[in-house]
Amino acid sequence: MARLIMKFGGVSVADGQRLRHVGDLVKHFNRDNEIILVTSALQGVTDSLLECARMAATEGNVAEVIEFIERLTDRHNQAIDEAIQNPEIAKEVKAVVGERINELEKAYIGICYLGELTLRSLDYISSYGEQLAAPILSGVLRDMGIESAHFTGADAGIVTNSDYGDSRPLERTYDLIPQKMLPIKGVPVVTGFIAKDEKGTITTLGRGGSDLSASLIGAALDADEIWFWKETSGVMTTDPKMVPEAKPIPSISYREAMELSYFGAKVLHPRAIEPAIRKGIPVRVKCTFDPDSPGTQIVHDDVQKEDVIKAVTVHKNVALLNISGAGMIGTPGVAARAFTALARAGINIIMISQGSSEASISLLIEEKQLEKAEDALRAEFPRDLVKEISHNSDVCALAVVGAGMAGTPGVAARVFKAMGGARINVLMISQGSSEHNISFVVSRKDGEHAVRELHREFGLGGEA
Ligand code: ASP
Ligand code: MG
Repeated sequence: MARLIMKFGGVSVADGQRLRHVGDLVKHFNRDNEIILVTSALQGVTDSLLECARMAATEGNVAEVIEFIERLTDRHNQAIDEAIQNPEIAKEVKAVVGERINELEKAYIGICYLGELTLRSLDYISSYGEQLAAPILSGVLRDMGIESAHFTGADAGIVTNSDYGDSRPLERTYDLIPQKMLPIKGVPVVTGFIAKDEKGTITTLGRGGSDLSASLIGAALDADEIWFWKETSGVMTTDPKMVPEAKPIPSISYREAMELSYFGAKVLHPRAIEPAIRKGIPVRVKCTFDPDSPGTQIVHDDVQKEDVIKAVTVHKNVALLNISGAGMIGTPGVAARAFTALARAGINIIMISQGSSEASISLLIEEKQLEKAEDALRAEFPRDLVKEISHNSDVCALAVVGAGMAGTPGVAARVFKAMGGARINVLMISQGSSEHNISFVVSRKDGEHAVRELHREFGLGGEA
């Protein structure tokens, strides 16, 4: 009997039919395992909740709120009708959903009148996506003859700080979860994404935070594995839309998975699996369409040293920022000042490179932060020190990831030889001393071509 945490979100919980499918999967695995479910909101609901909140604050249009609430009610009731056959259970779930929607409507109307929207109220509002989904999923399980109850993240013991919109779990969470959830009866359904702070106010773990909820629960309950269900076949060697030969990777380490997610492979957010890393609990990405295939296991230690490279990713929404000037040569503190100024402006730096001539520093950042970043640097540096601040936003970043490259000579040579052979110009290169990834920047138009070349060079589709 293994204890499994299973997280469903996005398309997997889009409508009644998909929710029923989740029920089937639970039924399939429930025979031999102890299961705890974590669910996100029905697909797209969180976005729509936030959008309506902004509308309420800026336009104060009560009639529009009422219309939105009607649509939201219809969508959830329809999911209930589709997914739950027993009329008693359907009625009961509709009552819970209806009550929660009433609370939500009151909050929206309050916002309309106040014309004010704080991060705290946004958390309150956005928590309803999951608060509506969990009772439905739990009802589906009961409808299928599986004992189940629904819990909010707070009921389950997740306590955070009060950084509304992006709250961090407190250490106490690890003690509280077992107190609240053990012994496990049936298959509990816990809302992902939401928690509460020490004052008891609703908080959220940041967009996409349901994955973190699942990891926290898994870590605190010492689960055997945490399964993240997706519509794709696990973690892929690269985006199959770009390279048809892309294959699922059977096993990768946390480190490799982290390197991949930093580079835009939207697998799992590194922060989301951190609690699992700490406890050494294996994480698995499973495909809802192919439940018996093992998917990708993400394990604590680096595995399969012999595959030098596991995956190639490309991140397109980036921009290159250059700071240069002869005044920088031999002047200590320029890099420190640049990084501090950018940090203050909330700019996330993806890659850094400085040649030993010290006359220039290149940084890779998110394209959408470019203007803010340039303004921050211009405000920081006098012209005699930094002569020029320039950018190139027609670029993309590639990352070649794999623990096997650590200590293996010749990997970088193969990467850049492949680029040379394809006549792709490389604009910036960086390799951290962990040697888990080689990243580099090319023109945006060359991005997909570069990925295909590398995928072939390292035989990732089995074509070597
Ligand atoms: N529903 C939340 C969001 O859309 C959390 C999640 O999906 O993980 O961000
Ligand atoms: Mg979501």
